[in-house]
This record gives sequence, C-alpha cells and structure tokens, in this order.
Amino acid sequence: MAMYYPSASFTCQPVSPLTQLPKPANLPRVREHRAFNSKCHQAAWYPSRAHHVRIRAAAAAEPCAARTHTNTPATKAAKPFGRLCGLSCRTNAVALGHATVRRACTSAMYTANAEQPTPIPVMAEVLDQYGWMLGSPLEELMSRAAVLRDNGQHGAIVSFSPKVFLPITRLCRDMCGYCTFAQPPRPARRAFMTLEEILQIAAQGAAAGCSEALLTLGDKPEDRWPEAASELMDMGFGSTIEYVEAAAKAILRETGLLPHINAGVMSELDLRKLKKVSASQGLMLESTSLELMHSGGAHHNCPDKDPASRLKTIEAAGRAAVPYTSGILVGIGDTRSDRLHALACLHRLNERYGHIQELIIQNFRAKPATAMATWPEPPLEELLWAVTAARIMFGPNMNIQAPPNLTPLESAAGGSSGASSLAALQVGWRALLDAGINDWGGISPITRDFVNPDKPWPHLSSLAAATAAAGKLLLPRLPVYPAFLGLRGGAPQPNRHPDEETAAAVRGELAARAPGTPLAAAPAEVAAAGNPLGQLSCRWLDFSGGQDSVGAAVLRSIDSEGFLRASAWVAGRPDVDEQEVLSQGQQERAQPSGVSIISTAFSVSHTPPPPAASPWPLAAAASMTIATTMEEAAIPTTPAATTAEMGSMAATAQRGSMPIPRWREGRVWRVAVSVDGALEGMPRPTDPSPRVTSLLEGVLARGRPLQRDELELLLRSRGADYDAVCAAADELRRRTCGDTVSYVVNRNINYTNVCTYKCSFCAFSKGRTAEELRGPAYVVPYEEIARRTAEAWDRGATEVCMQGGIHPNFTGDTYLRIVSAAKAAAPAVHVHAFSPLEVHHGATSLGLTYERYLERLAVAGLGSLPGTAAEVLHDHVRSVLCPDKIDTATWLKVVGAAHRVGLCTTSTLMFGSVEEGPAAWASHLVLLRELQQQAEATAGHGSGVGITEFVPLPFVHMESPVYIKGQARRGPSLHEIVLLHAVARLALHPHVNNVQASWVKVGPSRAAQLLAAGCNDMGGSIMNESITRAAGAAHGQELPPVRMEEIIRAAGRQPRQRTTLYGMPPVEQTARSYGTVPLQPLVFAAPTVGGLR
Ligand code: SF4
Repeated sequence: MAMYYPSASFTCQPVSPLTQLPKPANLPRVREHRAFNSKCHQAAWYPSRAHHVRIRAAAAAEPCAARTHTNTPATKAAKPFGRLCGLSCRTNAVALGHATVRRACTSAMYTANAEQPTPIPVMAEVLDQYGWMLGSPLEELMSRAAVLRDNGQHGAIVSFSPKVFLPITRLCRDMCGYCTFAQPPRPARRAFMTLEEILQIAAQGAAAGCSEALLTLGDKPEDRWPEAASELMDMGFGSTIEYVEAAAKAILRETGLLPHINAGVMSELDLRKLKKVSASQGLMLESTSLELMHSGGAHHNCPDKDPASRLKTIEAAGRAAVPYTSGILVGIGDTRSDRLHALACLHRLNERYGHIQELIIQNFRAKPATAMATWPEPPLEELLWAVTAARIMFGPNMNIQAPPNLTPLESAAGGSSGASSLAALQVGWRALLDAGINDWGGISPITRDFVNPDKPWPHLSSLAAATAAAGKLLLPRLPVYPAFLGLRGGAPQPNRHPDEETAAAVRGELAARAPGTPLAAAPAEVAAAGNPLGQLSCRWLDFSGGQDSVGAAVLRSIDSEGFLRASAWVAGRPDVDEQEVLSQGQQERAQPSGVSIISTAFSVSHTPPPPAASPWPLAAAASMTIATTMEEAAIPTTPAATTAEMGSMAATAQRGSMPIPRWREGRVWRVAVSVDGALEGMPRPTDPSPRVTSLLEGVLARGRPLQRDELELLLRSRGADYDAVCAAADELRRRTCGDTVSYVVNRNINYTNVCTYKCSFCAFSKGRTAEELRGPAYVVPYEEIARRTAEAWDRGATEVCMQGGIHPNFTGDTYLRIVSAAKAAAPAVHVHAFSPLEVHHGATSLGLTYERYLERLAVAGLGSLPGTAAEVLHDHVRSVLCPDKIDTATWLKVVGAAHRVGLCTTSTLMFGSVEEGPAAWASHLVLLRELQQQAEATAGHGSGVGITEFVPLPFVHMESPVYIKGQARRGPSLHEIVLLHAVARLALHPHVNNVQASWVKVGPSRAAQLLAAGCNDMGGSIMNESITRAAGAAHGQELPPVRMEEIIRAAGRQPRQRTTLYGMPPVEQTARSYGTVPLQPLVFAAPTVGGLR
C-alpha cells in the first residue's frame, strides 16, 4: 500500500505510515490529517495557500502597482485553491509587470506541472522489507555492509571534500530543538553575509585549494523576520534564494570554487535556477517521524521540517536532475524503524530519479543553550546501525557519509586530553569505516562547522591515518561525485538544454491552461530559453555558459576518475616552480590568448605567495590575507574584480554577519595529489592490494595477458598499487628491452593545416581561409617538402614524418606525389607518413581498396605509417571528439591492411580530454593488442611486421576547441600519464615491445620520468612540429641528439639512435646528427597558390 504525499500547505502527512506507528491516534492533528486524506492526492496538484500568502506579502512589501491590484476580482478569485489559481495570478502579474509576483506564480505553476509524485512507502511495507535489520546483530550487519561497499565502485577509496563553509544567513523561520545555527536578528548586525565577506572567505578557500563552497542557510528567513526581507530588498533581491543564486554565481566566477547549496525547502524552478550556479545541492530529510513535529519534539514549530515538504523538494530535485545530497539525523527522538522509513523514502525517490549522490548519516550532538541541551546523545552503536542500514538498503555504489567531527566518543577510549580524545575519535572512525561508509564529507582548513561550532573538523593527516589503518586511501573529491560527471561510459551525452527543459515545462503548462497565451507574456525564464537542442551537455550539470558554466568548472577540476585533480601540472606546458604553483590558485580559466594559468595543487603557507600571478584576483588576495590575523569585523577593501551587485551593499555601516576566519597555526593542512595519485604527504596504505599484486605476478611470472577489466583496475591504481604497477612495468621493460633508450633523428613535415574535418580537440586544422588561432591556413609546396627532407638528411635524420589536414583538393595522387618528392630529395630517407584517415581519404578518392592504395604508396617510397587519428578507439568517445572521422572499425581496418601489405605502423592513444579514462583506455589497449596478434598470425611472431611501438599522446588542452567550449578536461594528470605508459607496457607485452615517451607532449624532463615506468623510447628529435604547438604546447621545435642523450643518461639509461623500424642507422648519419647546423627558414604557400594539387 502506498500513498502520495500532498502539498505542504495542507500539512498532510503519509497517513498510512502514521497509522502504522504506535502514536496517539486521537490527537486533533491526526484527525485533521485523516479528514484531509481524501483530498491529499488532489491537493498535491494545486498551488498552495502559502503561495498566495507569499504573493500577498511580496506585493505588500513592495509599494508598486501590484499592491493595489492584488485584490482585484481576478486575484480574489484566484485565492481559493484550484486549477485557475496559478494562471489568474500569473496573468494578473504579467499585466501589472510585477516581477516578484511573476516569479512566485511561475514557481507555483511549475510545481503544479510536476509529474505524478512518487508513492512513498508505508511503514508496514518498509518493515516487511527491511525490518529484519532491526533485530540483527550489529557485527553481522557491519560485516555485510563493508563487503557490499568494498565490492562496489568505491573499492579502497574513501573520499572527502575540502571546502569552505559559508553560512549565508543564520536567520531561519524554523526553531529546531537541537540547533544553534539559527539565530535571531541582532541589533546593528547584518542578517546576511555580504558578497564581500562571501568572496573573501571563498577566495581563502581557493587559495588553500578547496574545491567546495558550501552555502548553508536557514529556511526562508524572510517569511519570519522582517529584518531579513528588508535587508534583501536593500540589496536588490526579492528572496533569499535570489541572493544565494547571485552569491553562488560570484563564487564560481571569482574564485572557481564549486558551490554546493543547502538552501532548504524550495520549488523545482528554484532548484533549476540554482543548478546553473552550483555543482550540487542538498537537503537533509532528517526524519519522517511525525512525532518530532509535535509539541516537545525536535521539529515542533518547524514548518520546513515537515517530511512531506522535504520529500517534495527532494523529488523536485530529481526531476531537475540535480546531483543531490540528503540524509538522516540519528537520535533526535526517532526510532530505528523511523530511520528505516526515512531511508526507504529516499531510496524510493532515488530509484525513480537516480539523483541522490550521497547519504549523510549524522548523529545528534547536544549543544548548550538549546531546547535539547540535555537530550541524550545516541551512542556510536546507533550511528553504526544506521550506517549499515543505509549501505544495505542502497547497495554498494551509494556514497554514504558520516561527519568525522561528530563521531561519538566511546567512553572506553575517550579521555579529556587532546591525544586521548583523538584516539577515541579514531576508534569511532575505524568503526564507521567498518560499517560501510565511503566518505567523510566536507572538511575545511579555513572555516569551522557553523552547525556544530564546538566540534572542530579533524586535521587531514589524522583522518588519512585512520583511513589508511582500515586499508583505505583518502582522496579529495568535488562537491559533485564522480558518477554524476557524465564521464562514465565514455563522454558527456547530448541532452536537452536545461533552459529548454524549463521552458518546455512552463510552455506545456501555458498550453494546457491558457491556449493562445503568447510566449512573450511569459516570464523571463521562458523567454530566455531559446537555446538549441542537442548541445553537448551532461544531464547532471549545466554547461550552458560554455567556459563560464559550472559544468566547465567541474571538468577543469577533475581527474579521469572524477576526483579532485589537485595538481598544477598539465601536458604541453613547462613545469612551474613551487612558488608559481602556490600563487596560481586552484583552477584555470581559459584565456583566449592560450596563456591560461592553472593550479589545482595548493598549499596553505604562512609565507603566502605573491598574489599577482593568480588568474583570480580574489584568490590571490586571499593568499595574502590568509596568514594575517584579522579582526572579526574587518571588511576588506572590495577588489576590483567584484561585481556590480556588491556595490549595492558597500554602503552599509552594519557589522558583518559572521567573523572572517582567523588563520590558526597548527590547523594548517595541505592538500595536493602527487604523481602516485594519492594525497601528498598524507598517510596511506603501505602495501599494494592483493588483487593488484596477483595481476602483476601473473604478467611477470607467467606472461598471462591482462583482460580489459583487469587493465581498467590497474589504470585506477593509486598509492602503493601505483608504485607496484610502475615497478612491474619497469621490470618488464628491463627484461624485454634492456637499459638502452632509443630515439630517432627525424623531421616532422606537416604539409597543410587545411582540413575538412571538424575534430573538436584539434587546434591545428583550419578552413581554407580561417586565420584564427595560430597563424593562417597554408600548404607546403612539393619543392619545400623536398628541401626540408634534404635538409633533414644533411642534419643526420633518417626519417621524415609527414602528416597534415585533409585538404579538400587532395586526392590519393597528392599523397603519392608527397612521398615521391621526399624520396627524390633523399632516396635513403625513411618516409613515415599518412595516418589511417589520410590513407582512407586517398584510397577513397581514387576508388581503390586500402590494400591496393597502400601498395602504391609503398612502391612510391612510403616506409611505414604513423598510427595516429586513433584518438581513443571507443566510438562513444569518438562521437564527441571526432564525429565525422573514421570510426574505430575503419581505423583498425586500414591499419590491418597496412600490416597485410607489409607496412609497419606505430600506434597511439590521445587521452585525457572528454573520456572517462580507465574504461576507454583499457578497451583501446586491448584492441591494439588484438590487432598486433592478427599481424603476427599472418606474418609470424618476431617477423617485424605490424605495430612497432605504442605512443601515448596526452591531450594538450590550452587552445583545443573542445576545451575552450568548456567541454573537456585539462588533459590527463601526471599520475594518469605515468600510469598509462606503465599499464601499456604490461598490456601489450610481448606483442608490442616499444613504449614511447612523447617529450613533445610532456616535456623532456617528464619524458625522462616516464622511462622509469616502462618506456624504452623517446621518439624523434622532430626538428619542426606544428600540431601539438597549435594546441598550445611549449615543446616540440627540436630536441637535438646531444640534449636527448644528456636527458637519457641523467635518467640512468644508455641512449641509442635507431631507425624508424628500430634498426641501426648508418654510421655517417649518426655522426652528422651531432652537428649544430641551424635550420633554414620554413617556406609556406597560401592554400590556393602554388601548393599541393
Ligand atoms: S585532427 Fe586531423 S582530421 Fe581532425 S580536424 Fe585536425 S587535422 Fe583534420
């Protein structure tokens, strides 16, 4: 049996659960509920009485035309509950031009337009399904929950969110018996934090590397406190939600922190508005027990703690696809049955919408000077039971969190001293981990927990140590969890634009209620919704602002698994020294010039870095103030970057609503993710996991091929697992290739940058006349190809590597002439040219099979093919990166054809842009291995035919169009780059024995670092490179043999020149290569003159 929860205005509750509970059945309120029972379902569809009250209040508070007209017959007629209400109010408001009323009406209409509400379970149903847990031994439940957690996607990772806590306002219309957060207005003190205060604290967090700005506030304070309404009006905002929206927008824009908003009960329209400026939102359900609402209960006189209201908001968040946090509060007068019921309600909503990203299982802690100051706190056992119940009910993959600063201290381990108190906390933390949590929630190096001010957050190292003692690795995350980032399964999906969803809903309402109502008369939310469908967008995040959107900010912050990247390093850019890293703030904003500055690594220092280098002035300013003891009332000078909104409140002479945090020595902790993928300088498990150990032994001892899922597991290695993977790859490299590191002296010739394809990652290609980005469109004449080839040969090169865009005038004959031009200039040079895409284009243009065309190229002098244009061999990823390019099957077909005609190829993987890394990378590696196995099956193992080497190519993001649009990450992290090379060595052994470190992508020093992770080759000396440099890379012009060999020797290895096919180059060429003859200037032609035809 089930029922629908009704409109908040009726205060109707789930009647059936109520009747199942041993509660007074004859209370007047209960009788009232029953009387309304028959109306509940119907009432849920009508705008609420509170809606009308709000409209009247808004009109009364603002002396405008609406005030005199709200009592018109039309509005009066709208007051009774009924379907015409919203329309009448809206029409009236539109006619009057009253923005506040219009917003309220739109909100009500949107609510009324909601889909059928989700039936919530009755208590009997819940107990029937989960009641067995009530009587089960806690140890059994914990064991079961821990196994569930460990077998899910969390594995050995326990996360936390480094944050700043921003209590936007502490006024609240509720009066919860346990709360010290809510405060009445205080004379001469502001009710709301000013935007200056908000931004100053957020900037401190950004400078300290936090990822989350937690905006927490009381519910609708303006409904109870005239001071709140008045202050909002002074600031130019119609409601607290509007102010929160403005604050979140400013935080995102000025500091790069990602807002997580806890703004209480609200409408779907408000949730959608806030979705545009926040990474996630949340509302604790706390409890569904109606007992708590009665006199003497924790939620007496708390209209927003009405479970129906809260469930309604949580369901609206599901419809709006908001990554949502909820949870229960344990020990406020609720029973274990109540907890099961509350969890079951959330579970039911999550089954329908999948939007609940985490469950907070929070225990009540008694606070002085509250109505519940003497209320007994629940023991640890009660908290553990609730955690296990949540894990068992929600399964392995739900994120279940228990705040570490609230953990009950068990008397056996407790004590008064700091050390014994920490020891007692760690006992509790270990128990919570054993009960199945996988997250510690937000903790801050900057601000305190304003909801529990007497419970400081733990030092990060203590938490990491306790986590490591349980065999888990502590990792920082964003306020939005990895599963909601749209990366799993390949890439962000095309989706209806969020504005369009809102507009469609409101349009539908208009159409249903008032046929012919012109859209122009609709509110701004509708009129603004003209965005096209099909724009790339993740369902859970808003990407509609491009590079300025919250979705883009999230992508800038994450690694391939969706955790906080927390590292300054990016492919293509020279390493920066530590001081620069510290000064750059947390993240990067794209700069049109391509000179974007990044840093997600951070360090809180008492010697703060100079602020000028920060891309965000406020973060830089904060890094200066962070080391300064600040007076509570001190309001800093408004930085120039702050907004016009801030100006409206600068004139106030009132004191701030909260103290700006002091920087306290001893509470400094630093978060940065190091190359091993773990928190830098923090305790971690010291031994690799048995599973990883077993897989590595299988490869090293028995040559067992790693399967796709096993590769994916290895590609997620961190900490001790990472160390073990790199060591195994290095050992396999030593056994297979010895200690020599090879490289080829070569020259790259990119013969045109004109291209008809539209790969979203490519900054190199241009239309025939486009001159944006780096220089104009060009072709390189045949004579210049010949000249460059001859020059390269004279400088000791044995190879020319030629690739270019797909010029619309090019045919298969063009490529044949390119080869001939090079061979004519230097007959002994090895021509390594043409990606599978170019082969496909050439063969197709001549109507030849791939094999026939490749034979003609070979006859012309082609020596081998670069295995580029592969990007990621995963069609889901390719549909985003290069939708009009050849698909995975075609790429494999062309390369297979090359192998069959006796042409060797290299193989590549361009990684770290839009894909969820490990899954797609593992798939790619398996395809390459199978391709090489096919070549060996035809020509024989060791025949030298097939793939000569594997070259991982980290995505260089700076000027990549997909990044500039805000739809890609900042390339792979250094951890991912090293790991991919190592895993590739393990995956491709013994079929592809050369793994190359691309110094063009990562720089010479990092390439040397890769030599210790399975690499045995440094690629070519290049002489000229255009493609990676067009994407913004600083490397690539030339790494002369002398310098190359210095780098290799410095890494403890022996350099060796090689040919393209890993043979020995002619002695005279090697001798020439050490000369220092400067290159002659390059010659280009316009794409339509004198070029290639
Ligand atoms: S990657 Fe190659 S095919 Fe794609 S747009 Fe760039 S040049 Fe053209």
